[in-house]
Amino acid sequence: MTSFSIQHQCPQCGAPALLQETDRLMTCRFCKVTSVLMFPGGMRTVLPVCPSAADKPLVYAPYWRYKGIVFTCLDAGVQDRFVDFSVAAIPSVRFPRSVGLRSQALKLRYVPPELPGRFLKPAASKPDMLTALDRTQLRESAAPWHFRTAIGDVQSLLYAPFYLDRKLFDAVLDRAISPVLAEDDEVFGLGGEAPDPSIDFLPALCPTCGWDLRGERDSICLDCPNCQKVWATDRKGFQEIPFGYVKTQGTPDGYLPFWRIQASVGSFRLDTYADVVRAANLPHVPQPVDETIPFRFWAPAFKIQAKRLMHLGRSLTLMQPQWEMATEHARTGHRSVNLPAQEAVETIRLNMAGWITPRQKLLPALAEAQVNALLHELIFVPFVAGPHELTLTDTRISIPNAHISLSGNL
Ligand SMILES: [Zn+2]
Ligand SMILES: [Zn+2]
Repeated sequence: MTSFSIQHQCPQCGAPALLQETDRLMTCRFCKVTSVLMFPGGMRTVLPVCPSAADKPLVYAPYWRYKGIVFTCLDAGVQDRFVDFSVAAIPSVRFPRSVGLRSQALKLRYVPPELPGRFLKPAASKPDMLTALDRTQLRESAAPWHFRTAIGDVQSLLYAPFYLDRKLFDAVLDRAISPVLAEDDEVFGLGGEAPDPSIDFLPALCPTCGWDLRGERDSICLDCPNCQKVWATDRKGFQEIPFGYVKTQGTPDGYLPFWRIQASVGSFRLDTYADVVRAANLPHVPQPVDETIPFRFWAPAFKIQAKRLMHLGRSLTLMQPQWEMATEHARTGHRSVNLPAQEAVETIRLNMAGWITPRQKLLPALAEAQVNALLHELIFVPFVAGPHELTLTDTRISIPNAHISLSGNL
């Protein structure tokens, strides 16, 4: 199981709704109002309380939750691994160090502001995924690696309910998890307060013209069909994103979204297409025109199986397609944009690890290099759908359907 369900209510009419962890947009089945889900302080969810413990004075202990893909760059290539784990966010020894597999098996819900109970505050800010992984796992991959990159959930916090009745009880199972505690045990003095609001709803209306925005339920970018803009949702609200639809002959079956990113990577010289031809030692003699084509990194803007994510990013980056674009939404729709630009930026170093030459010699410099993204835009690339795969127009790049539908891992 790679995703969990979250119970919530429609902000307009109060009707119950079952959301998926990946949902970013909610259209109420009853009142039909569409809202964007916002997580101003990161996503905060709670594990359900066992009915027999519901009237106890509950204490919620915070756990950092991590879910995503860890890529490890080795001499021999790039390894990827799916991770989904939690770590106690307070140092108390009384609470379990992780919630185990329960975050995947139980129905979580977003923390509502009126939820009774005392919420303990995390002791520090959330460590990044790689740091947390190092602390929880005794041994990473045995071979020496050059660098690692994590892509995935960065903010979420999960609260697990407990209560005290001479012993400490796990309120999910209503079961004691400690011996009888001394009256001065540290757990009695932990305090706690009302929960921070975890979720906000923003009406899905165009900030420029007020029109209803369009998007799939897991999409982080919404279209305005009226004024032809694309808006990304982030913690502050809507941000306009530059975009282009690749022009094509005839009508494609749809479009796949990609991030096209201008970035600097340490002292690597990657200003033009000619630079990348030399850096990757491509079988192509740089032409004078290549010196004038600005170089951009490419990365999928949709979730997809990890190896395919890297393969697609590299193929388009080395191709540097000079497609003609339209800045109007095409009549055929595009697939959800559900991989944020920041995560696409995280793939840049991995992208380069696949083609810099001589690789062995340059990997240490790449591992140390600072990546600065200067500009990102969304490019919608037309595809033709076959029975088993999608093929990007004007390329030999195809993507098995199974790799797109199995993207829940990210
Ligand atoms: Zn409603
Ligand atoms: Zn508009």
